[in-house]
Amino acid sequence: MEQFEGKNILNFVKELPNDDACKAYLAKYKWQDGFVCPKCCSNRGCMKKDYKYHCYSCHHVESATVGFPFLGHL
Ligand SMILES: [Zn+2]
Repeated sequence: MEQFEGKNILNFVKELPNDDACKAYLAKYKWQDGFVCPKCCSNRGCMKKDYKYHCYSCHHVESATVGFPFLGHL
């Protein structure tokens, strides 16, 4: 997968038809190397609805849009 800088992601995301498509894209980008929980560093988890990742170890739920501060509207 190509590497994008933040601004390029923003420009790309603007081209997507709706928030759902944006989240799908961001989830794919964010977890392209697999999920790692930001709270406990576990890599055991699964994707839930609305492109959120649920950590099996600490039950933290990570949104696909977290970590992309320029996407505050999502
Ligand atoms: Zn965790």
